[in-house]
Amino acid sequence: MTKKVESYEYQAEIKKVLDVVIHSIYTNKDIFIRELISNAADALEKFRHISLVEKDFIDEDLPLEIKIELNEKSKTFTISDTGVGMTKEELIENLGTVAHSGSKEFIEKLAEQKNNEAKLIGQFGLGFYSAFMVSNKVRVFTRSYKKGSKGYIWTSDGISNYSISEEEGIARGTKIVVELKKDHEKYSEEFSVKGIIEEYSNFVSSPIFIDDKRINTVQAIWVKNKNEVKQKEYDEFYKFLTNSHSEPFYHLHTSSDAPIQMKTILFFPKENMEIFGFNRMEPGMNLYCNKVLIESKVKEILPDYLRFIKGVVDSEDLPLNISRETLQDSLIISKIRKFLTKRVISFLIDMAKKDEQKYLDFWKTFASFIKEGINSDFENREKLAKLLRFETSKTKADEKTSLEEYLKRAKEEQKEIYFLNGKNRQEIENSPYLESFIASDIEVIYLYEAIDDFTMSALSEYDKKKLVSADKSDIKIDKKDDDKKDDKDSKENYEKLIKWMEKLFDKDLEKVVLSDRLVNSPAIIVNPDDTMTQNMQKILKDAKGGMFPAGKKILEINPKHSLIKKLLVLVDNKKEEKLLTQITEQIYDNALFNAGMDLDKSRMVNRMNDILEYAINSK
Ligand code: ADP
Ligand code: MG
Repeated sequence: MTKKVESYEYQAEIKKVLDVVIHSIYTNKDIFIRELISNAADALEKFRHISLVEKDFIDEDLPLEIKIELNEKSKTFTISDTGVGMTKEELIENLGTVAHSGSKEFIEKLAEQKNNEAKLIGQFGLGFYSAFMVSNKVRVFTRSYKKGSKGYIWTSDGISNYSISEEEGIARGTKIVVELKKDHEKYSEEFSVKGIIEEYSNFVSSPIFIDDKRINTVQAIWVKNKNEVKQKEYDEFYKFLTNSHSEPFYHLHTSSDAPIQMKTILFFPKENMEIFGFNRMEPGMNLYCNKVLIESKVKEILPDYLRFIKGVVDSEDLPLNISRETLQDSLIISKIRKFLTKRVISFLIDMAKKDEQKYLDFWKTFASFIKEGINSDFENREKLAKLLRFETSKTKADEKTSLEEYLKRAKEEQKEIYFLNGKNRQEIENSPYLESFIASDIEVIYLYEAIDDFTMSALSEYDKKKLVSADKSDIKIDKKDDDKKDDKDSKENYEKLIKWMEKLFDKDLEKVVLSDRLVNSPAIIVNPDDTMTQNMQKILKDAKGGMFPAGKKILEINPKHSLIKKLLVLVDNKKEEKLLTQITEQIYDNALFNAGMDLDKSRMVNRMNDILEYAINSK
């Protein structure tokens, strides 16, 4: 009886992936073996879970294992597992489409640069297709664990189509037959394959057989003494855990007896996958009790903002029957979490002290996670703040400094730490908010990400010094005494002008005041709000579609600026009221613009034209 064979076309993204995989300069073809083992190991892990919570599944007596068969005659590499298997829908979904949301852009990048792909490909869930590096024909025999499931054969040449047909007599799990291309026939020889599998497979918790010989002894390197573990073993273990092909940035191997007995390896990766626009990383910690895996990717072991850290925790104090549900309320787990969080932070603080450059490499890639921590981890906020690095008005571009160093440089009288947000260094340096600080030799931290103000606001102070945005209204910068006398005189002179301006901007401004901070600019908008910077208000306003009511602002005018001095004269001259109004409105708009706030552009252009005409006529 001939079976019905249905043909499907790959999703466009998959075709691109396949094209990259097949034609790229992949030097290391070996990786396909790891990818397939990793998938088999995942499938077994998933099944092991399901078998604990569900009752209805097929082939319950099948042992949980991975088998590799090498056939030199037929030139095939075959790997089978007794894991979850796939239904027909899952075959189409998992092997015919890209599930990860950011993958499209990534694939495009991949196709362009063709250079880092080998180490990245596994982490983006494109692993299965690596089989097509060595094969023109891959067959997948699979049957889902679900009661009543049917068996299927999936076949493809890895170009544009795949087919699926139903098949009798398939047991639970998945078997993948890779027909090797002429140049890659060595993957059907035990001699070539064994070495590739050995190092890696020792971390797989299910048994792996090559042609019926068991090759892996499960190795729990974390229970060993640090001195007994070679760097290479750490690297291999990391690659296994993360399904990546690159070495970790750093690892931390510790054991402790109090407050609880536990052994841990924590890995810091080199890459930050979230930068590529991918989904949030999954938590990266696996939980063991006495070398038995209890649960992988446990979200309770480290706080969410440390999700980039990958590793294992093994504690004999844990009850073996602990389940996903009880993990949440486990006192032991919360102790582990507390302990490890502090350990990670103090480790990073230490690294920054000992090897600033190395720490800055880390900061460059993972800064956003530390900032996230400051926003969410109240308990460790102050310690995390030690990890912050910024450019400031006293560093060079691209040079970074810590809050601690900032305070060391500050004069003793300085009671606050100042920061200012802007798109880039140039924008901040041209900002009128900065000028008085520069004139008074007070350092200002430059923030380039919109979200940074929220971090500063969450932190609110460092070493008992308040963190203050430079656009805030009541900043007091110490001045020389003769300057102060000057101010007093001008106050009286300006009273009339200020009253007139306040009337003009009655709807928009809380008040108009004389500035004692401005140097070169005629006026600025300052923010009387104690909790939110102008930038934060703007973000909230944008996010809420303009519904967020920004508080009324204050206009500071610079009594020493010639433009403002001229206004003093105009305000006494009824005939010049139109010009006075237009210039004042323009000064106000310029200040709004500098504050990054919305202004009425069409009104401004008309007004500017009037002012230009006036200027040219007076020549
Ligand atoms: P990833 O493993 O990162 O998800 P892959 O390309 O390696 O990406 O695999 C794609 C998907 O195909 C897997 O997520 C899984 O759902 C399915 N899959 C692959 N191999 C197997 C297998 N041996 N058993 C069951 N499902 C599998
Ligand atoms: Mg995979």
